[in-house]
Amino acid sequence: MAELLKEEDFKLKSEEKAFDPDHRRIIRNNMLKYEMAVTIGRKRYLNYELARKRTAGIRYRAIMNLDKNLVDFESNFTKRGGKVIWALDEKEAVDAILEIVKRQYITLVVKGKSMATEEIGIGDILMKNGIESLETDLGEFLVQLAGEKPYHIITPVMHKSKEDIAQLLSEKFGISPKSTPEEITMFVRKHLREKFVKADVGITGANFLIADIGGVALTENEGNGMMTFSFPKIHIVVAGIEKIIPSIADLDVIWPVLASNGTGQTITAYNSVITGPRQADETDGPDEMYVILLDNNRTNVLAKPEQRKALMCIKCGACLNACPVYRTIGGHAYGSVYSGPIGAVLVPIMKGHEEYKHLSYASSLCGRCTEVCPVMIPLHKLLLYNRRDSVNEGFAPSSEKRIMKMYRRMMMKRSWLETTNTGVFRSIRNSVIKNRLGKVWGDRREFPEFARKSFNRQWKDKLKEQQRELEREQQREKELLREQQAKQVEPENHPEPENENTTD
Ligand code: SF4
Repeated sequence: MAELLKEEDFKLKSEEKAFDPDHRRIIRNNMLKYEMAVTIGRKRYLNYELARKRTAGIRYRAIMNLDKNLVDFESNFTKRGGKVIWALDEKEAVDAILEIVKRQYITLVVKGKSMATEEIGIGDILMKNGIESLETDLGEFLVQLAGEKPYHIITPVMHKSKEDIAQLLSEKFGISPKSTPEEITMFVRKHLREKFVKADVGITGANFLIADIGGVALTENEGNGMMTFSFPKIHIVVAGIEKIIPSIADLDVIWPVLASNGTGQTITAYNSVITGPRQADETDGPDEMYVILLDNNRTNVLAKPEQRKALMCIKCGACLNACPVYRTIGGHAYGSVYSGPIGAVLVPIMKGHEEYKHLSYASSLCGRCTEVCPVMIPLHKLLLYNRRDSVNEGFAPSSEKRIMKMYRRMMMKRSWLETTNTGVFRSIRNSVIKNRLGKVWGDRREFPEFARKSFNRQWKDKLKEQQRELEREQQREKELLREQQAKQVEPENHPEPENENTTD
């Protein structure tokens, strides 16, 4: 079967998930838990808005000085024996990793949670090269086991219930399908610990790259990241170039903001700053450490003055959780590593509007994503810029252009719209909409009726009606007055009272 176009695939998966009651129930429950935790997390701040502004300021300056910050990082990181590899695209990053692992006889690689490694697909590539690549974050481990991709940038297995997970582990490892979350965690912990001591290479991402000390900041809740970089003799970090921050002092602000928006915690459980391979006077750490600085079209985003703010993202996942579209269709429908509003902004620019422009339309533009973003990225506006760019680049089909032209005319001239709202025109219009917009609009929704009268006309009619009502009221009052006057009794002929106060 021919591969579906990305857009077709997106629509099919979206529809499937939107009408899957189990999916909706699981997501609703998990989102509810997230919202409760994050609401409490944000309330712990004396002044959350100030922390948000400071985080946004740090990230903005980091991106605006990306060139200098990255060079500073490289020079500081290499001073302690670390190696920096600049990778223009996925291929260069993958080739660099394969070159490192093939230099020695390596059979097992352990991986910490990292979206950048998902982006380059290194796990599958290592497997194809005969090297076992094992995810060690619990959520990532489970999705790998299920043969799926992460569903969410923070909680990769959000789409599965605890019963689903117990069932999955029962099928793969024979544990009881009635295992509790604690039993599952203990089982996976034991399974992974055996792998950590055998692994030769650990691959992680980076939450941040710290320019002034040449360090890699990693934040996680399970401790698997620490074991991934400290047990194996080689540690490889794959990080997007936008992960840079100017100074270690910036972590004071960014780490708590990331934790409170990602999971509702005050601070994440394990926070590490790694500045290179093991030094002569140190007892643990890898013999070799590499940082792969991945561009992979991030510089395309940087080149767009309006959209470059998207690079400020700290991958907290808050915009995904707030987005009504993401909550309905789920993370897998997007067909890209980055999903939700931030994915809908980044992916079409990084991978091209031709294949991914539809993601910029996967939004109701309600603006909730912008409201919750801790680094104040105006996500819903960036989606509009993306839509504009895709039209300017010629990716709007001619039928869509014709429809928009007609729509514009109708909207500019009310009489046109009203003509199409009557008799035979009305049925022609409805059939055009159904045939042309059917796929976009979906078969399960009725196209809304146009109002019979424009708002302007309704308003004028209302004013006229009020005026008429006023006149009627005045008329009624006049008539009432006349009636009262007519009924008024004629004054009787009383004798004039004598004037007792007459004076001479
Ligand atoms: S865009 Fe903002 S809200 Fe969304 S993941 Fe990035 S930092 Fe979080």
